[in-house]
Order: sequence, then structure tokens, then C-alpha cells
Amino acid sequence: MHYDMLFIHPSAHTSSPQFIIMPMGIFSMVNELKDYSVKVVNVGLEMCLNKNFDATQFLNQYEFDCVGIDLHWHEHAFTALETARLCKEINPDCTVIVGGFTASHFASEILQFSPQVDVIIRGEGEEALPQIVENKDWSLIPNLVYRDNHEMRTTPLRPVSLDTLNFTLMTSMNHWEEYLKCSINAYTKTRFWYDFWLCTGRGCVYNCSYCGGASTAQKRLCGREGMTFRSVEAVTKDLTALRDLGVHVVCPSHDMSLAGEKYWGKLFASMKKEGIFMGMYLEVWQLPDKSFIEELARTCDPRFTTVAVTLLSGSETVRRKNGKYFSNEDYYKCAELLEEYNIHHVPYFATGLPFETVDTFEETLKMTETILSDFNPSSIFCTPLRLDPGSPMAENPEEYGITPHYRTFADYYERCRKRSENVQHDFIGYHTQFLDGRMIMELQHRWEKIMGKNLMAFNPPPLHFM
Ligand code: SF4
Repeated sequence: MHYDMLFIHPSAHTSSPQFIIMPMGIFSMVNELKDYSVKVVNVGLEMCLNKNFDATQFLNQYEFDCVGIDLHWHEHAFTALETARLCKEINPDCTVIVGGFTASHFASEILQFSPQVDVIIRGEGEEALPQIVENKDWSLIPNLVYRDNHEMRTTPLRPVSLDTLNFTLMTSMNHWEEYLKCSINAYTKTRFWYDFWLCTGRGCVYNCSYCGGASTAQKRLCGREGMTFRSVEAVTKDLTALRDLGVHVVCPSHDMSLAGEKYWGKLFASMKKEGIFMGMYLEVWQLPDKSFIEELARTCDPRFTTVAVTLLSGSETVRRKNGKYFSNEDYYKCAELLEEYNIHHVPYFATGLPFETVDTFEETLKMTETILSDFNPSSIFCTPLRLDPGSPMAENPEEYGITPHYRTFADYYERCRKRSENVQHDFIGYHTQFLDGRMIMELQHRWEKIMGKNLMAFNPPPLHFM
């Protein structure tokens, strides 16, 4: 079978499914290639469906002219390039295109590092990709970095317009129905609900310390200033398509409460008008207010609706210095309201935050116990951060009081290679002025111990679906 373009989403591990969920822009790019034959392959999902999956054998069944490999999350640094190597082995004449935030951040270095990569799409790809497939002169295509007689060439950067893009048509993906039953690292054959991550906007106005998609990074990597929400009409059209596919839970890329009441009021009204009664898994970027929570509860299926709140730390000072601007009291009021309106909620803490100390972490432990004793969250998380390339703390380590252990693409590649080969590796990738890697993991274990103690009392509802 011949394809003009093969999209490959690598697993983050060469022999087990890790990071199965794909960047949301893959479908919008695929759908910009209407005049071409295109196939999307999700390696992690294929591994889940076939325990004997062999990538070489699998790719050998196809003929292809171009290959698109996503390297959005740094977790794919090794396997994305392994996939590029494999594709060139199978077809030395194919054009290998790599894109995503990590690829954009390290574009020149990746091209120097890997002769198998022909071109990097820097930033947003929907405008550039069809022109590459069409074989247009690369110097005339925006958002590219490529080699030209051993010289590195970079074309002008510009973000795309979002409203005409189609983020939901996924039929060119192998086993797309099964993809709807995936979480980050797992596929559950018998899972009775489908969920889907939908792009509802791009960009950000915040600069959370740990985030590679923060405002400054978006400007540098994509040329995108601030935050843009897709129109209510475009989002409603996508929600209608997802409802018709039987999707139970939509996971919006953007916190629509930040778009203002005029926007979300219109969106919720439009959902009601079109009879869209779905669940929503919404990660809020700060705290939603009462009117938003009320309207969310009136519009979405409460059985499948969850609000995830990133608290980061029990210390208000540490939280604020890392980009979340609300008090503990405001959070408790918000949790109370969510419960009053029967909306599931999930608080999220982190270990290894810049400015966190052993003492301030006591406040995280205390807050965790308060949440467990006074509220009914569907789940509660605390995880160690990992150094995200392009994040404010990676770009300005002195300002955040951290020492990065990973700086170059080769550092991230090595980390992922070791993980893939099951060799011990530095998981976190930095230490702070107050906490080294061992202390960060110790704090993590202390948090987990509290959870263990409370496990009997902590009883998540049976329909919890994350
Ligand atoms: S984590 Fe912070 S900086 Fe990153 S997208 Fe969310 S709100 Fe923006």
C-alpha cells in the first residue's frame, strides 16, 4: 500500500507502550492533506493491540514518500529519532519531517545530531506541512528549519489561523476507535467510555515555572502571542462530531473559564441548543468562579465531568512563585462548590518545585490531609516535576534557583535512551537550591505515605474515569 504521507506517533519506550496519547495537532495536520493519501500510526496503541508488534515488520508493509514524526514531549526524544532511522532504512528516499515543541526548541541541534531528519517544522504545522508534501521550495514555506548544503536554514515563523481546521476527523488513523479507549500509558479494551483531547485554543498568558508551553515559549517557538480560543461555532461543530462518534468525555486543551463569561456562556448555550450532553475533563489553569461552575454543571453530564485543579503546593508563596495565583481559602471554596454541584474534582500537587523547601512541603502534606478529611476528590495526585525544555525554569535557572542537569537535545536523548534500555537514569533532570534529587524523592515518598494511611478512608466513586 502506498501513502504520500505516513504520520507516526512513537511510543516513549521501544518495547512497551508509553505516552500513547498524541498531540492534538496531528489530526488537524492530517486533515489539511485532503488531496493526499495519508496514514496515521500510533506505535504505543499498536503495541497494546499486538503483544508481538514489530515496528520494522509493520512499516515494511507500506510504501511512503513522506514521514511525519511528532517530537512534542521530550519523552519521545530517543524513539522519535529511532523511528526516523527506521523509516530511512526502509525507504532512503523518503522525506522525514519532525515537529512538536521539543523538536522546535532543539531544531538546529536535532538536524546536526540526526542525518535521518530532513526538516523540522518549528511551531505550528498546518500551513507548512501540505506545502512540504506538495514538494514546494522549502525556502518559501513558513516555520521550517532544514539543512541546505550543510548550512542551517530557518524560514519565518508564523502561527496559523485555527477556525478552519478539523481536529476531530480521525479515520486515517489505524484503529482509531481503539484510540478513544486510551489513557497516557494504557489502553483498556473493555473500557466503556470514550474520551478525546480536543484543541479548543492555542497559546497561554501565564508562565508557570515548569511548563514548556508557557507564554514565553509559545512566542519563541510558535510566534504566538497570548492565548487564542477557537470560535464557539468551530468548537460546537467538533463537539457535535465527537458526540456522534459516541465520545463520552471531551478533554479541552484550554481552560475556557479564562476566555470570559461571554465566550463560555455562548459555548454552553450552543451545546444545549445542539443537544450536546457530554462529560468534560477540564484542567483549570487558575480557579474557576461560581458562575462558571454552575453553568458547567448545568451543561455537562455530571457522571463524566471532572475539574482538575493544579495546586502545586500547600504553600501559597511557593504556588504563586510557580505561576498559580490563588489562596488555599479560595481553593477550598472552589472544591466546596464543585462538590455542591456534583462535579468530580481532582487536586494536583508536585514535588521538586522551585522555591519549595522541606518546611514549605509540610504545608503540602497538611493540605493533602485537609482535602482528604474535609472533601471528596475523585482522585488526588502528587508527582515529581521533570525539567521541560523551554520552560521558564529551564530557560532562566538562576531566577528559579535551580541547576539543570539536562540542557541539550543530546541530554534528553540519552535520558530517553537509557529508559528505553531499562538503564538507571536521572528522572527529574535538575535540582533546586533547597532540594537535591534524593530529597525530592523523599518528599514524594512522604506524600505517598500519607495517601497510604488514608487509603481506607479515601474512597473514589466507582464511575471515576481517568
Ligand atoms: S501550565 Fe501554566 S504556563 Fe503552561 S499552559 Fe498551563 S497555565 Fe499556561
